[in-house]
Amino acid sequence: MNNSTGSTATVRAAGVNIKDLRKSYGSNEVLKGISLTVEPGQVVCLIGPSGSGKSTLLRCVNLLEHPNAGTINVGEFEATDPDVDLNKMRQSVGMVFQHFNLFPHLSVLDNCTISQMKVLKRSKSEAANVARHNLERVGLGHLADRYPDQLSGGQQQRVAIARALSMDPKLMLFDEPTSALDPETVGDVLAVMRKLAQEGMTMLVVTHEMGFAREVADRVVFMDAGVVVEEGPAEHVISAPTQPRTKEFLRRVL
Ligand code: ADP
Ligand code: MG
Repeated sequence: MNNSTGSTATVRAAGVNIKDLRKSYGSNEVLKGISLTVEPGQVVCLIGPSGSGKSTLLRCVNLLEHPNAGTINVGEFEATDPDVDLNKMRQSVGMVFQHFNLFPHLSVLDNCTISQMKVLKRSKSEAANVARHNLERVGLGHLADRYPDQLSGGQQQRVAIARALSMDPKLMLFDEPTSALDPETVGDVLAVMRKLAQEGMTMLVVTHEMGFAREVADRVVFMDAGVVVEEGPAEHVISAPTQPRTKEFLRRVL
């Protein structure tokens, strides 16, 4: 959702600018010159078949993977500059995965404070205040003392979102955040993401939730075999695609 006017922005959002990004694993070129822009406060949904390079693209944005060519800018940082302060850059990017990777031996609250203390050097009480605020944001303030295995998958994913938000990101990357969830818990996670979008967070979201994309995305990008095949507003890409590969993909998922 565009936050240029009238939003309840609580976030200083950063934009993303990707130019001619290439990534190979051995001789397998997985990203073949991807260019993609997300303006500050925008939501872009990335769709495409399995193996098309969506996760690799997200992992390049916070340099979990190193691109072979091209440039990536995240806010003030040029991620692909060899002199970039990687830690600082990564701090401004929150990532939420399909499998939420919470620490099983830590309470919900401690899952949300540990990185704040270790990476941001916040005191325990400051980190706990930030964590509680973000657990409230995702509707889980009352479960702060539980452990991950006492929560549903959807609740665990909301904790993972609260954990990411507690690091004060300026950009959030979501990689199929609802794909591993029981259907009845998907809606609560999407509701949290919708609210985050309304608050003005910049979001790049890999998803198969076409309803979410239609409703929330400023733009939808369809990727196949390492290239962007088609992009534009959801009403074009999802409802009236022009490219045969997009049509074929949507026939299968809708
Ligand atoms: P998607 O998320 O769209 O399903 P991925 O980005 O996970 O696609 O994968 C794109 C391609 O890159 C696949 O062919 C996959 O096998 C390959 N790939 C992904 N990660 C690695 C890796 N760490 N090493 C080798 N090949 C990889
Ligand atoms: Mg993937």
